[in-house]
Amino acid sequence: MDDIGIIAVGGYNEMGRNMTALHVGKDIVIFDMGLRLDQVQIHEDVEVERMHSLDLIKLGAIPDDTVLKGVDGTVRAIVCTHGHLDHIGAISKLAHRYRAPIIATPYTIGLIKQLIKAERKFNAENELVPMNAGETKEISSNLSIEFIRVQHSTIDCVFIALHTPRGALLYANDFKMDRTPTLGEPPDIQRLKQLGKEGVFLMITESTNAGITGKTPSERIAKDMLHDVLVGTEETESGIIVTTFSSHIARINAIVEIAKKMDRIPVLMGRSMDKYVKLAKRMGYIKFPDNLKVYGTRKTVDKAFARIASEGKEKYLPIVTGHQGEPGAVLERISMDGTDYRIETGDKVIFSANVIPTPSTRANRYALETKLRMRGARIYDGVHVSGHACREDHWELLRIINPEHVIPAHGNLVMHSSYVEMAEDTGYVLGDTVHLLRNGEELILG
Ligand SMILES: [Zn+2]
Repeated sequence: MDDIGIIAVGGYNEMGRNMTALHVGKDIVIFDMGLRLDQVQIHEDVEVERMHSLDLIKLGAIPDDTVLKGVDGTVRAIVCTHGHLDHIGAISKLAHRYRAPIIATPYTIGLIKQLIKAERKFNAENELVPMNAGETKEISSNLSIEFIRVQHSTIDCVFIALHTPRGALLYANDFKMDRTPTLGEPPDIQRLKQLGKEGVFLMITESTNAGITGKTPSERIAKDMLHDVLVGTEETESGIIVTTFSSHIARINAIVEIAKKMDRIPVLMGRSMDKYVKLAKRMGYIKFPDNLKVYGTRKTVDKAFARIASEGKEKYLPIVTGHQGEPGAVLERISMDGTDYRIETGDKVIFSANVIPTPSTRANRYALETKLRMRGARIYDGVHVSGHACREDHWELLRIINPEHVIPAHGNLVMHSSYVEMAEDTGYVLGDTVHLLRNGEELILG
């Protein structure tokens, strides 16, 4: 029986730029090809679309896939779990080097198409294969890929089960155990249990929140929190702006629903809102009310704000980009009085997002909140729940799947260590059945 090789290409030393290669006999399968955005943003004036892969590798922005050069085998498929940039963002830079199809769920494939189209340096001509959760596809005489539905913080997310002669390998990168999602179905726990019973040789899973105790609250809780903040007030005439992740379609859908209760017209603003939400609407994942408008370009955003200012802020609920304080995003421009939407005393700004814990985003966010407060805004912070499993969710998944081996991915060493401690509590042994990998390393399991 062939050994199984696991090559940690990216995302093992950090949050972001996820990429793992599995090596079974002469077949190689790549899971995810992600970007690490903060490594790009600290360098001003970079236009990722025009940059060469080797330069982006040097910056630490995309996975260093040159480690795959020495591996004897053929890449059979590039398979992605969901449409976040830290899982698909490097496809336009790296995929053209492999003569392999890219397999992902339909929404994720839609986003990958947009990335490839926007790319200016390379031309990825890989076949794009949409596959739904619950489906299985053969990728070589020995291997097949199965998608299992999960919940996270965007839509159409899956775990990937790779069926091999050695048993199944489960790539479980980005999930939450959400039994009451506000959009889409709960995780397919029945199938996961069955898979566990059939026998799983190896599980690779995210570890970003493995150090946080307890269970990640359901997305339903975030919707209740938003409802509480937006509807539970006597100050119904003030200006209110909500900012959240553009790719968090369930969250945006919830805000749009609450806007209706408030008798306000929801307006989505920002380049990435245009990108993620319009695609979800076009593909039928969400149904928006007829009065909802999405404005992507700066010109259309400015025109819409001029109209809102003249008709009355109390009639509208702008949902905008810029919760991390990104320079040039809609909220930052509002904070600088760069649009006709003027913040006045008592206007509310609701952050339905966490602060990504890097020094640069913290600094940007601090500056943004300070400017908004100076103009009189009331700040509602952290009206949000995470899309990532916490420690007890990890405990639960690990015991459902009961793999022979487990490897924490998508995180730094501290996050991996938290995962290892949790795994040790349920009987795994470091270096024997739970393994720590760093970018560029290969682990062989015989
Ligand atoms: Zn994600």
